[in-house]
Amino acid sequence: GAAIELEGLTKRYPGSALPAVDDVSMDVRAGETVILVGPSGCGKSTLLKMINRLIEPTAGRIRIGGEDVTDMDPVRLRRTIGYAIQASGLFPHMTVAQNIALVPKMLRWPAARVRARVEEMLDLVGLDPGEFHGRYPRQLSGGQQQRVGVARALAADPPVLLMDEPFGAVDPITRDHLQDELIRLQRELHKTIVFVTHDFDEAIKIGDRIAVLRERSHIAQFDTPEAILTN
Ligand code: ADP
Ligand code: ADP
Repeated sequence: GAAIELEGLTKRYPGSALPAVDDVSMDVRAGETVILVGPSGCGKSTLLKMINRLIEPTAGRIRIGGEDVTDMDPVRLRRTIGYAIQASGLFPHMTVAQNIALVPKMLRWPAARVRARVEEMLDLVGLDPGEFHGRYPRQLSGGQQQRVGVARALAADPPVLLMDEPFGAVDPITRDHLQDELIRLQRELHKTIVFVTHDFDEAIKIGDRIAVLRERSHIAQFDTPEAILTN
Protein backbone atom coordinates (compact mmCIF):
# COMPACT_ATOMS: atom_id res chain seq x y z
CA GLY A 1 0.00 0.00 0.00
CA ALA A 2 0.90 3.66 -0.34
CA ALA A 3 -0.49 6.51 1.71
CA ILE A 4 -2.42 9.28 0.00
CA GLU A 5 -2.05 12.83 1.34
CA LEU A 6 -4.31 15.65 0.20
CA GLU A 7 -3.39 19.15 1.27
CA GLY A 8 -5.59 22.19 0.65
CA LEU A 9 -7.00 20.59 -2.47
CA THR A 10 -9.26 22.96 -4.41
CA LYS A 11 -10.95 22.79 -7.81
CA ARG A 12 -12.81 25.66 -9.39
CA TYR A 13 -14.18 24.75 -12.83
CA PRO A 14 -13.92 27.56 -15.38
CA GLY A 15 -17.03 29.74 -15.31
CA SER A 16 -18.23 28.45 -11.91
CA ALA A 17 -18.85 30.96 -9.13
CA LEU A 18 -17.98 28.50 -6.36
CA PRO A 19 -15.31 25.82 -6.25
CA ALA A 20 -16.51 22.21 -6.71
CA VAL A 21 -13.95 21.15 -4.10
CA ASP A 22 -12.79 23.69 -1.55
CA ASP A 23 -9.61 23.39 0.52
CA VAL A 24 -9.78 19.67 1.33
CA SER A 25 -7.04 18.11 3.43
CA MET A 26 -7.17 14.40 4.17
CA ASP A 27 -4.76 11.55 4.86
CA VAL A 28 -5.51 8.02 3.74
CA ARG A 29 -3.21 5.56 5.47
CA ALA A 30 -1.31 2.95 3.51
CA GLY A 31 -3.43 -0.19 3.23
CA GLU A 32 -6.73 1.27 4.39
CA THR A 33 -10.08 1.66 2.67
CA VAL A 34 -11.60 5.12 2.95
CA ILE A 35 -15.18 5.62 1.81
CA LEU A 36 -16.43 8.99 0.59
CA VAL A 37 -20.15 9.55 1.13
CA GLY A 38 -22.05 12.75 0.52
CA PRO A 39 -24.81 14.33 -1.52
CA SER A 40 -24.77 14.28 -5.30
CA GLY A 41 -22.69 17.16 -6.63
CA CYS A 42 -20.56 17.62 -3.50
CA GLY A 43 -17.37 17.02 -5.48
CA LYS A 44 -16.57 13.33 -4.83
CA SER A 45 -15.84 12.51 -8.49
CA THR A 46 -13.87 15.73 -8.89
CA LEU A 47 -11.74 14.73 -5.89
CA LEU A 48 -10.95 11.29 -7.34
CA LYS A 49 -10.21 12.74 -10.79
CA MET A 50 -7.71 15.16 -9.26
CA ILE A 51 -5.92 12.36 -7.39
CA ASN A 52 -5.77 10.46 -10.68
CA ARG A 53 -4.63 13.59 -12.55
CA LEU A 54 -7.51 13.41 -15.00
CA ILE A 55 -8.12 17.04 -14.02
CA GLU A 56 -5.75 19.65 -12.62
CA PRO A 57 -6.36 21.11 -9.16
CA THR A 58 -6.76 24.87 -8.94
CA ALA A 59 -4.75 24.74 -5.73
CA GLY A 60 -3.31 22.25 -3.28
CA ARG A 61 -1.07 19.20 -3.30
CA ILE A 62 -1.49 15.45 -3.72
CA ARG A 63 1.13 12.97 -2.59
CA ILE A 64 1.04 9.22 -3.05
CA GLY A 65 3.62 7.21 -1.14
CA GLY A 66 5.30 10.52 -0.31
CA GLU A 67 5.67 11.48 -3.97
CA ASP A 68 3.91 14.48 -5.52
CA VAL A 69 1.64 13.14 -8.29
CA THR A 70 2.69 16.01 -10.55
CA ASP A 71 6.17 14.44 -10.56
CA MET A 72 4.84 11.09 -11.83
CA ASP A 73 4.93 10.38 -15.57
CA PRO A 74 1.77 8.84 -17.14
CA VAL A 75 3.12 5.29 -17.11
CA ARG A 76 4.09 5.50 -13.46
CA LEU A 77 0.70 6.98 -12.64
CA ARG A 78 -1.10 4.08 -14.36
CA ARG A 79 1.14 1.60 -12.54
CA THR A 80 0.32 3.21 -9.21
CA ILE A 81 -3.40 3.88 -9.55
CA GLY A 82 -6.25 1.66 -10.69
CA TYR A 83 -9.39 3.62 -11.49
CA ALA A 84 -12.92 2.25 -11.83
CA ILE A 85 -15.95 4.43 -12.44
CA GLN A 86 -19.72 4.12 -12.36
CA ALA A 87 -20.03 4.48 -16.13
CA SER A 88 -17.49 1.74 -16.81
CA GLY A 89 -15.33 4.01 -19.03
CA LEU A 90 -14.49 1.10 -21.34
CA PHE A 91 -13.18 1.91 -24.79
CA PRO A 92 -16.06 0.95 -27.14
CA HIS A 93 -13.83 -0.03 -30.08
CA MET A 94 -11.82 -2.51 -27.98
CA THR A 95 -12.88 -5.99 -26.87
CA VAL A 96 -13.26 -6.90 -23.21
CA ALA A 97 -9.82 -8.56 -23.28
CA GLN A 98 -8.18 -5.54 -24.96
CA ASN A 99 -9.72 -3.19 -22.39
CA ILE A 100 -8.45 -5.28 -19.47
CA ALA A 101 -5.02 -5.72 -21.07
CA LEU A 102 -4.55 -1.98 -21.61
CA VAL A 103 -2.40 -1.03 -18.62
CA PRO A 104 -0.40 -4.32 -18.42
CA LYS A 105 0.48 -3.83 -22.12
CA MET A 106 1.42 -0.24 -21.49
CA LEU A 107 3.75 -1.57 -18.78
CA ARG A 108 5.21 -4.01 -21.33
CA TRP A 109 4.22 -7.21 -19.59
CA PRO A 110 5.06 -10.29 -21.73
CA ALA A 111 2.11 -11.37 -23.93
CA ALA A 112 1.60 -14.73 -22.17
CA ARG A 113 1.43 -13.03 -18.78
CA VAL A 114 -1.08 -10.48 -20.09
CA ARG A 115 -3.29 -13.25 -21.51
CA ALA A 116 -3.22 -15.19 -18.25
CA ARG A 117 -3.96 -12.03 -16.28
CA VAL A 118 -6.99 -11.16 -18.43
CA GLU A 119 -8.45 -14.63 -17.73
CA GLU A 120 -7.68 -14.33 -14.03
CA MET A 121 -9.38 -10.92 -13.84
CA LEU A 122 -12.49 -12.11 -15.71
CA ASP A 123 -12.76 -15.04 -13.27
CA LEU A 124 -12.34 -12.64 -10.35
CA VAL A 125 -15.30 -10.50 -11.43
CA GLY A 126 -17.40 -13.57 -12.23
CA LEU A 127 -17.41 -13.43 -16.03
CA ASP A 128 -16.63 -16.62 -17.99
CA PRO A 129 -13.43 -15.83 -19.95
CA GLY A 130 -14.40 -18.02 -22.91
CA GLU A 131 -17.72 -16.26 -23.29
CA PHE A 132 -16.74 -12.64 -22.62
CA HIS A 133 -13.12 -12.29 -23.79
CA GLY A 134 -13.94 -11.27 -27.39
CA ARG A 135 -17.08 -9.24 -26.80
CA TYR A 136 -17.34 -5.51 -27.27
CA PRO A 137 -18.68 -3.30 -24.45
CA ARG A 138 -21.97 -2.65 -26.33
CA GLN A 139 -22.61 -6.41 -26.21
CA LEU A 140 -22.63 -6.36 -22.39
CA SER A 141 -25.23 -5.32 -19.83
CA GLY A 142 -24.47 -2.26 -17.69
CA GLY A 143 -23.53 -4.47 -14.73
CA GLN A 144 -21.24 -6.62 -16.88
CA GLN A 145 -19.56 -3.49 -18.24
CA GLN A 146 -18.91 -2.31 -14.68
CA ARG A 147 -17.39 -5.69 -13.81
CA VAL A 148 -15.03 -5.38 -16.78
CA GLY A 149 -14.22 -1.85 -15.60
CA VAL A 150 -13.27 -3.25 -12.19
CA ALA A 151 -11.21 -6.03 -13.85
CA ARG A 152 -9.34 -3.39 -15.85
CA ALA A 153 -8.66 -1.28 -12.76
CA LEU A 154 -7.15 -4.29 -10.96
CA ALA A 155 -5.29 -5.82 -13.92
CA ALA A 156 -1.84 -4.31 -13.36
CA ASP A 157 -2.04 -4.90 -9.61
CA PRO A 158 -1.73 -1.21 -8.62
CA PRO A 159 -1.15 -0.38 -4.94
CA VAL A 160 -3.84 2.34 -5.04
CA LEU A 161 -7.46 1.89 -6.14
CA LEU A 162 -9.75 4.85 -6.78
CA MET A 163 -13.31 3.64 -7.23
CA ASP A 164 -16.26 5.88 -8.06
CA GLU A 165 -19.48 3.91 -7.43
CA PRO A 166 -17.99 0.92 -9.25
CA PHE A 167 -20.78 -1.53 -8.29
CA GLY A 168 -23.80 0.74 -8.82
CA ALA A 169 -25.24 -1.26 -11.74
CA VAL A 170 -24.01 -4.70 -10.63
CA ASP A 171 -26.63 -7.25 -9.48
CA PRO A 172 -26.86 -7.72 -5.68
CA ILE A 173 -25.27 -11.21 -5.54
CA THR A 174 -22.30 -10.25 -7.71
CA ARG A 175 -21.97 -6.98 -5.82
CA ASP A 176 -21.71 -8.85 -2.55
CA HIS A 177 -19.01 -11.08 -4.08
CA LEU A 178 -17.08 -8.08 -5.44
CA GLN A 179 -17.28 -6.30 -2.08
CA ASP A 180 -15.78 -9.43 -0.45
CA GLU A 181 -13.03 -9.52 -3.10
CA LEU A 182 -12.20 -5.88 -2.44
CA ILE A 183 -11.94 -6.54 1.29
CA ARG A 184 -9.66 -9.50 0.54
CA LEU A 185 -7.42 -7.43 -1.77
CA GLN A 186 -7.08 -4.82 0.91
CA ARG A 187 -6.36 -7.34 3.71
CA GLU A 188 -4.03 -9.64 1.76
CA LEU A 189 -2.36 -7.27 -0.70
CA HIS A 190 -2.61 -4.11 1.43
CA LYS A 191 -4.18 -2.01 -1.29
CA THR A 192 -4.95 1.58 -0.41
CA ILE A 193 -8.51 2.23 -1.54
CA VAL A 194 -10.63 5.37 -1.88
CA PHE A 195 -14.18 4.36 -2.69
CA VAL A 196 -17.18 6.57 -3.46
CA THR A 197 -20.65 5.18 -2.79
CA HIS A 198 -24.23 6.26 -2.10
CA ASP A 199 -24.90 2.93 -0.40
CA PHE A 200 -24.45 3.31 3.35
CA ASP A 201 -24.53 -0.47 3.94
CA GLU A 202 -21.70 -0.83 1.42
CA ALA A 203 -19.75 1.94 3.18
CA ILE A 204 -20.15 0.22 6.55
CA LYS A 205 -19.21 -3.17 5.13
CA ILE A 206 -16.00 -2.32 3.30
CA GLY A 207 -14.76 0.91 4.90
CA ASP A 208 -12.01 1.19 7.51
CA ARG A 209 -12.93 4.86 7.76
CA ILE A 210 -15.78 6.85 6.30
CA ALA A 211 -15.53 10.49 5.28
CA VAL A 212 -18.92 12.19 5.35
CA LEU A 213 -18.76 15.11 2.95
CA ARG A 214 -20.90 18.23 2.69
CA GLU A 215 -21.03 20.85 -0.07
CA ARG A 216 -17.73 21.44 -1.89
CA SER A 217 -16.35 18.28 -0.20
CA HIS A 218 -16.05 19.90 3.23
CA ILE A 219 -15.39 17.02 5.62
CA ALA A 220 -18.16 16.87 8.23
CA GLN A 221 -16.98 13.64 9.84
CA PHE A 222 -14.08 11.26 9.25
CA ASP A 223 -14.13 8.18 11.42
CA THR A 224 -14.56 4.41 11.67
CA PRO A 225 -17.92 2.84 10.74
CA GLU A 226 -18.47 1.99 14.44
CA ALA A 227 -17.96 5.62 15.49
CA ILE A 228 -20.11 6.94 12.64
CA LEU A 229 -22.94 4.52 13.55
CA THR A 230 -22.93 5.57 17.22
CA ASN A 231 -23.05 9.30 16.38
P1 ADP B 1 -20.21 14.23 -7.07
O1 ADP B 1 -19.26 13.24 -7.64
O2 ADP B 1 -20.12 14.37 -5.59
O3 ADP B 1 -21.62 14.01 -7.52
P2 ADP B 1 -18.92 16.07 -8.92
O4 ADP B 1 -17.49 16.06 -8.57
O5 ADP B 1 -19.36 15.28 -10.09
O6 ADP B 1 -19.78 15.67 -7.63
O7 ADP B 1 -19.38 17.56 -9.15
C1 ADP B 1 -19.12 18.61 -8.21
C2 ADP B 1 -19.61 19.93 -8.76
O8 ADP B 1 -18.81 20.31 -9.87
C3 ADP B 1 -21.04 19.90 -9.26
O9 ADP B 1 -21.63 21.13 -8.95
C4 ADP B 1 -20.90 19.74 -10.75
O10 ADP B 1 -21.97 20.30 -11.42
C5 ADP B 1 -19.61 20.49 -11.02
N1 ADP B 1 -18.85 19.95 -12.17
C6 ADP B 1 -18.44 18.67 -12.34
N2 ADP B 1 -17.74 18.53 -13.48
C7 ADP B 1 -17.73 19.76 -14.07
C8 ADP B 1 -17.15 20.29 -15.27
N3 ADP B 1 -16.44 19.51 -16.09
N4 ADP B 1 -17.34 21.61 -15.52
C9 ADP B 1 -18.02 22.39 -14.67
N5 ADP B 1 -18.58 21.98 -13.52
C10 ADP B 1 -18.43 20.68 -13.22
P1 ADP C 1 -9.87 10.72 -21.51
O1 ADP C 1 -9.17 11.98 -21.93
O2 ADP C 1 -10.81 10.22 -22.56
O3 ADP C 1 -10.45 10.77 -20.14
P2 ADP C 1 -7.78 9.08 -20.38
O4 ADP C 1 -6.58 8.49 -21.07
O5 ADP C 1 -7.55 10.11 -19.38
O6 ADP C 1 -8.72 9.61 -21.55
O7 ADP C 1 -8.64 7.92 -19.74
C1 ADP C 1 -9.28 7.01 -20.58
C2 ADP C 1 -10.00 6.00 -19.72
O8 ADP C 1 -9.03 5.23 -19.00
C3 ADP C 1 -10.88 6.68 -18.69
O9 ADP C 1 -12.22 6.59 -19.10
C4 ADP C 1 -10.64 5.93 -17.43
O10 ADP C 1 -11.76 5.10 -17.10
C5 ADP C 1 -9.47 5.02 -17.69
N1 ADP C 1 -8.37 5.33 -16.80
C6 ADP C 1 -7.93 6.54 -16.43
N2 ADP C 1 -6.92 6.44 -15.57
C7 ADP C 1 -6.71 5.12 -15.37
C8 ADP C 1 -5.79 4.36 -14.59
N3 ADP C 1 -4.90 4.93 -13.79
N4 ADP C 1 -5.88 3.02 -14.64
C9 ADP C 1 -6.78 2.41 -15.43
N5 ADP C 1 -7.66 3.07 -16.20
C10 ADP C 1 -7.63 4.41 -16.17
